[in-house]
Amino acid sequence: MAEDLKEAGGKVRLYVNAPLAAGIAVAPDEGQAHYLMHVMRAKAGDRVTLFNGRDGEWMAEIAEVSKRAIALRCLSRIAPQAEVPDLWLAFAPIKKTPSDYLVQKAAELGVRALLPVFTRRTIVTRINPERMAANAVEAAQQSGRLSVPRVAAGVSFERLLADWPKERTLYFCDEGGDALPLADAATGHVGPAAILTGPEGGFDPAERAALRALPFVVPVTLGPRILRADTAALAALAIWQSVAGDFSQQH
Ligand code: SAM
Repeated sequence: MAEDLKEAGGKVRLYVNAPLAAGIAVAPDEGQAHYLMHVMRAKAGDRVTLFNGRDGEWMAEIAEVSKRAIALRCLSRIAPQAEVPDLWLAFAPIKKTPSDYLVQKAAELGVRALLPVFTRRTIVTRINPERMAANAVEAAQQSGRLSVPRVAAGVSFERLLADWPKERTLYFCDEGGDALPLADAATGHVGPAAILTGPEGGFDPAERAALRALPFVVPVTLGPRILRADTAALAALAIWQSVAGDFSQQH
């Protein structure tokens, strides 16, 4: 159903690649142009806000609407650039819950990068990185973030660990039972971090042993119940953001 951009009260936020500065013309991409023209019925003079992950958030106006195209012009900056905490999510894609859902929710929870990882028990054999990236953009627009999380290409478990940047602590969600609770392990954490969750069947014993032998890995528990993989990833992100990220900051 068509909506009205005026009624949306400048609440439409668009992620663009172009640089943003006062007076600059910005061309929305095809999908955004369609949305503005045919869903929001944009008219010249209507307002939207723009961000590109580098230049903060900008008020912009619809400068021109023709049958086929729409042009935006940047007016003034309404917020400086801000980053989310330096937290990645490495996750084994799972069958029942599409990765799209996880990407959207993780983006809302303020993750900086998403890394799909194929473990021995991962059932899913293919992912669609373009679609995941589109979901990341949509969630960033909707949630008020000023950056879009990076979606990495899928890698094997072995490659993930071999290429791991050693200064980044990897909180390994291990339902095995004898690990520290994530909230305790991460309280006061400073520096880059990541959370790792497994697939439906969990990590196999060799993978668990390999993880536990690495100096940058901290095994953690999320409590006494076995959570579904998607629940575990989102719960872990929320816990980490509460004790070491930006959930405890006032806005
Ligand atoms: N291996 C389990 C089984 O087959 O009963 C299930 C694995 S669980 C569905 C998927 C992933 O979620 C796990 O590999 C782990 O990373 C994470 N997970 C689930 N519950 C957890 C908990 N209580 N503590 C830590 N991690 C958990």
